[in-house]
Amino acid sequence: MSVADFQAVIGLEVHAQLLTATKIFCGCATAFGAEPNAYTCPVCLGMPGALPVLNEKVVEFAVRTGLALGCEIRETSVWARKNYFYPDLPKGYQISQYDLPICEHGRITIDTPEGEKTIRVRRIHMEEDAGKNVHDAAAGLTRVDLNRAGVPLLEIVSEPDLRTAEEAAEYLKQLRDILVYLGVNDGNLEEGSFRCDANVSVMRRGTSDFGTRTELKNLNSFRFIRQAIDYEIARQVEVIESGGAVVQETRLYDPDRGETRPMRSKEEAHDYRYFPDPDLPPLRLSRAFIEQVRSTLPELPRAKQARFVAELALPAYDARVLTADRALAEYFEACVSVYAGDRKKLANWFMGEVARLMNERGVSVSDVREKIPPAHFAALLGEIDKGAISNNAAKEVFSEMFRTGREPLGIISEKGLAQISDLGAIEQAVDEILAKNADSVASYRAGNQKLLGFFVGQVMKAMKGKGNPQRVNEVLRKKLGGQG
Ligand code: ADP
Ligand code: MG
Ligand code: ZN
Repeated sequence: MSVADFQAVIGLEVHAQLLTATKIFCGCATAFGAEPNAYTCPVCLGMPGALPVLNEKVVEFAVRTGLALGCEIRETSVWARKNYFYPDLPKGYQISQYDLPICEHGRITIDTPEGEKTIRVRRIHMEEDAGKNVHDAAAGLTRVDLNRAGVPLLEIVSEPDLRTAEEAAEYLKQLRDILVYLGVNDGNLEEGSFRCDANVSVMRRGTSDFGTRTELKNLNSFRFIRQAIDYEIARQVEVIESGGAVVQETRLYDPDRGETRPMRSKEEAHDYRYFPDPDLPPLRLSRAFIEQVRSTLPELPRAKQARFVAELALPAYDARVLTADRALAEYFEACVSVYAGDRKKLANWFMGEVARLMNERGVSVSDVREKIPPAHFAALLGEIDKGAISNNAAKEVFSEMFRTGREPLGIISEKGLAQISDLGAIEQAVDEILAKNADSVASYRAGNQKLLGFFVGQVMKAMKGKGNPQRVNEVLRKKLGGQG
């Protein structure tokens, strides 16, 4: 018996920090990196008697997300108190939603080796984040920073429909791309603004009752998510194979050791004493509000991807890369609309040179687009298509365009990068070289075809490296006697 005899079952709970300017129940800023406790007030400090006032933007973002994931939007949802003690939670409870969340019954489509698969989204609810305990080992102290207390979160819970670590990672990527497209979240796993807990269980193949699950925490990269889930599947199988039983508990992933360790036994919902928050009335949404939000939804990544394949005839892989980021997709489309040449070639430039600029210089799509507007981009590729410049020289021009914001033609002539494609000029150079090397020509014609490279080199040298290599080759072959 082994892992192969078992089927894993995975359900994910994602906490996504919403990109609102202010907190969910007070006017404090949500900005990152300030002095501890700089962004606090009686409400988010949990002072007795301070009353929460709901930030409408949070509701709009929740509805936006729910609609994008195909959820039903509840017209009356209820705020609940989740009670527990922790120093970073000054009120002694977190305001969340419990049995009547704002969104339910959605879905996310993922790609698997067996094709598309739909993962059901059980629910989406709004809640406030807690603060942060800051451990100062040198001073032997723990301090509390409440800047994050009251920052709005969406919790997005999947049904246990995922079956492998790969599927889990794919689901998270799709979800993250959607949230970022919607402008509700920045998608940053490393910094914790997109956090994921994974619930994992195993059952023997051929059976249908789910096993006991554990909940994995501290998964702050896609690689860690896959590693932690695979580790946990193997661990649970071993426990069962050796006659034991999986204990329902929360386990912490340790990235240094690549393993999960028990953290605490899992609380049950009744431990939290959920009850409706008396300080906040039920949230009522009008149909008109929901429809208004629906009317502002952007085209989502998968739809855009499908359209790039269908309308622009791009390979599926390219379409996925180009649509993973909304700004990149829009920049690409703007270039397509002004460039008459081959779209695949344009896609290659995006996945090659644009990606390189962004990686090497740490710049954003909008930085690139600002320096290289679509018309300049198209003009550069047009020069390559005409044979006026080589692909390599064009790359040099491209980075100069990015540096200076100038259009390509000026840079090409200034740097002397134009290549000679004029047939007359090439033929003249070829004739001269062939005349000077009669012996080699005879040898070539007698069958020594390796000499072609020699002729190309001589012609290029005579043309000071500016000859269009493809045309030089063509002319040489023609003059030397066709098949060459
Ligand atoms: P809780 O309320 O304790 O957080 P839920 O039943 O709401 O538990 O489920 C939380 C998450 O755990 C969901 O994402 C769900 O899909 C997943 N889950 C539930 N049961 C299992 C199981 N047996 N194996 C794996 N995941 C599970
Ligand atoms: Mg839960
Ligand atoms: Zn506040």
